[in-house]
Parts: sequence; structure tokens; C-alpha cells
Amino acid sequence: MSELTALPPIAHFREVVIDLPALTHNVRTMRERVRDAALLVVVKANGYGHGMVDSARAALAGGADWLGVADITEALELRDAGITAPVLAWLHAPRETFAMAIARDIALGVSTRDQLERIAEVGSGRIHLKLDTGLSRNGFAPADWAEVFTRAAELEAAGRLVVEGIFSHVSNTHEDEDAAAATEFDRALELARSAGLAPELIHLSASLTALTMPALNYSMVRVGLAAYGLSPIDGRDPSEFGLRPVMTVRSQVAAVRRVPAGVGVSYDYTYRPTTETTLALVPVGYGEGVPRAGSNRAPVQVAGISSTVAGRVAMDQIVVDMGDAAVAVGDEVVLFGDPARGVPSGAQWAAACETNVYEIVTRMGGRLTRVVVE
Ligand SMILES: *Cc1c(COP(=O)(O)O)cnc(C)c1O
Repeated sequence: MSELTALPPIAHFREVVIDLPALTHNVRTMRERVRDAALLVVVKANGYGHGMVDSARAALAGGADWLGVADITEALELRDAGITAPVLAWLHAPRETFAMAIARDIALGVSTRDQLERIAEVGSGRIHLKLDTGLSRNGFAPADWAEVFTRAAELEAAGRLVVEGIFSHVSNTHEDEDAAAATEFDRALELARSAGLAPELIHLSASLTALTMPALNYSMVRVGLAAYGLSPIDGRDPSEFGLRPVMTVRSQVAAVRRVPAGVGVSYDYTYRPTTETTLALVPVGYGEGVPRAGSNRAPVQVAGISSTVAGRVAMDQIVVDMGDAAVAVGDEVVLFGDPARGVPSGAQWAAACETNVYEIVTRMGGRLTRVVVE
């Protein structure tokens, strides 16, 4: 395990702190784990809430070979920021022309015949054919594989495009399901070869399978969550894999009030303290992406003391019952961060809110001031 980064003292009313050295460390860790496979780091959706361009740069510093985003708009933002590394984008708008993407050297995931023909029309695009091996989302359906491989090989032979990759995505449902998807994927690769395709980059795995099923690495692995130092497996701490959470959400106590037993706390009075107590008011709410589902359940640390959200999460604020602890306006509050620092984890928030940690980090924003640790 590497050293924890020293985070700066809290300087804003509410902050999201991004520990870029941790991100670089995580990517280096995954780089070693996937061995000979190329490593694509996924920075879509504002880098899972961590900031897309900062995350991309930190990932490249850790040895990422590729960056991945959902759509071309995100890919162009990376190019506009001066990032020249290979970028793959795979979710396209209807009637996308692809001319700009190809001009800026963005590799394109292709899921439909329409996309394939439009890209061929522009000329000189690099494509990765996306296959559906079970998720029923995008990607070519198995019934279309033979035909699309034949057509792609024809377009490649005619110099209209280059088939650089073939990929699919697994469901994370169960190891057996992911192994079954890999079997389907292998069948597709056979068909592709017999159609005359010889793509250099074959990729199926994302974070979960990269950590647990190295047999599915093929020639590239696409990693999102693990790069942000989070575990895709319930009940397994990221530290088990040598990963460090990159995001910390913290704030300062805005007000403190001593109240008698039985008072109603926050909207709907879903919380009433059973004894006289001290309530701390924290200026974050669903305006910052804090899920309302965390009401009365999610962990919060105030002035180093662990507690729980008391009553409803509101748009701008939450209340924390501090009992008889000495709490003052301005005391530091941590919603979640790296549990190695003794604070609640994003995974605990996810469990309290009955969601996954992907959603917890990706939705953080609103009035949080971004503090980037370089
Ligand atoms: C988001 C995404 C990933 C990354 O998944 P993680 O579980 O975060 O590693 C990989 N591939 C595709 C196609 C994706 O959409």
C-alpha cells in the first residue's frame, strides 16, 4: 500500500476533494494487475463525478494506454483540453455524422449498421465493433454478427475504415453469467476472423472482472470504478485490491442547537431525539447530489465523531444528532472519503441509500467547491 495523500485543511463551506495522486496510484495498480493487456480508463460522466479532464491526466500519468467515454461530446472535450492519447467513444446520437470525431482521431464504438455506413462515408475512421453478449443494451445482436463482420471487412478492404477493435460488456450479475458472455464473445471472435477481420484490440472486461476474472482480459481491459479507488464488489473494501478512494465530500457545521427530547427534526419530523441533545446543521443536501434516501440512515462524521443523518435530507441541508458531544460552528464534517482516514466510505453511503457506489460518486456536485489535490 502506498502512503495516503495529505489532504489540505477544509477551506470551503462544502467541498468535494479529488485526490489525483490516489487516482494515479489506482491506475498504476490496475496497470500491473492486467499485465500484458492494454488498459483503457473510463472517464465518462465527468470522470464518475471526479472531473473528466483531471481524471484523464492522472490516469495517463498512471500508465493508462487509452481513455474511454460514452459519447463524442465528451471525447471532444478531452481533445480540446489538449489530450492526445487514444480515446474511444461508444454511445452515439441519432444521425451523428462522425466527421468531427474522425477529424480529431477519436476511435468509435459501432453498434449499428447505420453507424458503420456513416463512418465509412466519412472515410479513415478507426472503429471498435460493439457486440451484445447479454446486456440487451447497445451492440450488434448475435443474429447480425456474421453479416456485419462481412460488411466491415469489405469496408476495411476498400480502405473506408479500420476495424481496430471488437468489444462487448458484461453484466456483473454472477461469475457464471460473465463466463457465459465470454463464451458468446469467443464465438463472435471466431466469426469475425472467418470474415477476414483481425482487430488488434479485443476487450470485454470492466472493473469487476478485471479484479476477479483475469481470464477475460483479452488484449485490453476497460476500467472505470477501480480507477476512482472504489470496489465493484459489495462487502469487499477497495484496500483489498490496493485501491484508494479518490473522492472525499466534506463540509463545515453551519449551526448548532441544543434541543429537548421529542422535538421534530427536519421535514416530516421523521426523527425525534429521545433525550435532550445537540443537533449540528450541515449545509449539504440533494442540491449537492446527497441522496434523500440517506435520510435517517447514512453515516456522517462531525468533528471526528461518527453519527448518522437525523431526519430527512433536504435540498440544502442535513441535521446530525451529536448527543452531548462538544460541537461548534465551523467544525469539519465528512460525509465519505477513504475509510483508511477513519471516515465513512462511499460504499457505506451506497448501502444506506440502497444504491451502488457508482451512483454515489457520480451524482456529487451542486454547490460543492471542487478542491483538486495534485
Ligand atoms: C462504464 C463502462 C465501463 C467501466 O465500467 P466499471 O465497472 O466502472 O469499470 C466499461 N465499459 C463500458 C462499455 C462502460 O460503459
